Amino acid sequence: MTWFRNHYVCTVCEGHWHLEAAETDSAHCPHCRAYDVAPYRSDDFSRVIDRDGSRFVVMECTKVTRRGPNWRVVKRFDTQDAARAFVAAR
Ligand SMILES: [Zn+2]
Repeated sequence: MTWFRNHYVCTVCEGHWHLEAAETDSAHCPHCRAYDVAPYRSDDFSRVIDRDGSRFVVMECTKVTRRGPNWRVVKRFDTQDAARAFVAAR
């Protein structure tokens, strides 16, 4: 499953915000309530790197429910660089 962090700038009030969602959907401005502001950028957050003590864990979004994304541990690494290289290679 894909999981995105969408970045928005409202053309009406120039307000900035971001939302995490399963789609790169338009959203209503939380500052002035303008309708259907399209995201200007969407980052793929389907795989993220989390810390677990001194180790780094690559997590993957397996499905999205009404409560949000479900995460599954893919692999653990000793260094952040190794985890980043693993994510970049997939
Ligand atoms: Zn606005």
